[in-house]
Amino acid sequence: MEDRRRKLILHTHVDNPTWSGAKIAKQLDIAKTTVCDVLRRFRERNSVDRAVQKKRRSGTYDRQLNWKVLRTVRANPGLSEHDIAQKYGAARSTVRRIIHRAGLHSYKAIKQPNRTMKQSLVTKTRARKLYYQVLTKYHGCLLQDDETYVKMDFGQLPGQKFYLSTARGDVPAKFKFMFMDKFAKKMMVWQGICTCGAKTPVFITTKTMDSKLYKEECLKERVLPFIKAHNGPVKFWPDLASCHYSREVLQWYRDNGVDFIEKEFNPPNCPQFRPIEKYWAIMKRKLKKTGKMARDAAGMTRFWKKLATEVDTAAVQRLMGGITRKVRSFIRNEEK
Ligand SMILES: [Zn+2]
Repeated sequence: MEDRRRKLILHTHVDNPTWSGAKIAKQLDIAKTTVCDVLRRFRERNSVDRAVQKKRRSGTYDRQLNWKVLRTVRANPGLSEHDIAQKYGAARSTVRRIIHRAGLHSYKAIKQPNRTMKQSLVTKTRARKLYYQVLTKYHGCLLQDDETYVKMDFGQLPGQKFYLSTARGDVPAKFKFMFMDKFAKKMMVWQGICTCGAKTPVFITTKTMDSKLYKEECLKERVLPFIKAHNGPVKFWPDLASCHYSREVLQWYRDNGVDFIEKEFNPPNCPQFRPIEKYWAIMKRKLKKTGKMARDAAGMTRFWKKLATEVDTAAVQRLMGGITRKVRSFIRNEEK
């Protein structure tokens, strides 16, 4: 950039010390980034001249270093460019160039529950059985259910909260803070979602779930009519909670001809096969956004029903889509 413009920026800054970079940029009709760069250089070095560029070897490229970097990446793909650069006393940009040229990309690691060996074995065995003996032989709907606790004061649901203001804190307290009670009142929400995009009616209670309540309110009242009214076959994939597989409940599935995934086919600790957990997160975000509060189970049910319509058929299909694929890729990865 020419000297003249640099000086112009600087003089404007000196004449108007309270002006922000953005304002100077606007007044002079120069890009904001340019103005900020010039001001930053001025603050750092008391000069607007560009620093003399360090000599960089051009054209030559260190084969030895190239080889070392790639060998290190193969041995430990978790090292950062910074770590590798430090290891060989090379510039980070050089390391980046080598990595880029080798066609390597950076990917974010996926969070996985940390299983113990025994649990991990159970998970693997069940996932394999689920895939080979159930999912590959079945092409109808899969219905998953689960229950979750929801705070009655939606503002206390997990997540961040934002407010718009010209200055931090310059809004009333109810916007500025999230008031959190350590023992905020909660309610239990139960629902089922199906691969076809349909949802069962929701069941909300202040009681805690047990076999009897599960059988009466969830299975008899909601799951069975849902399956009966369904177009085509439905396989029920309950959450692994013990009351979903109690002796009483197992008997009920059989007596009522409900096709369900047996416990020994239901892998534990696999949230990636339980999209209903994502559904809970979506619903809780929606509730939080209202900033409201449910007074009782009926109130909570009203809020829930209204917001659940926003998670429409297509959205539920997207959530539930690809479960079989996920189970397959899980067992393939475990086999490696
Ligand atoms: Zn369905």
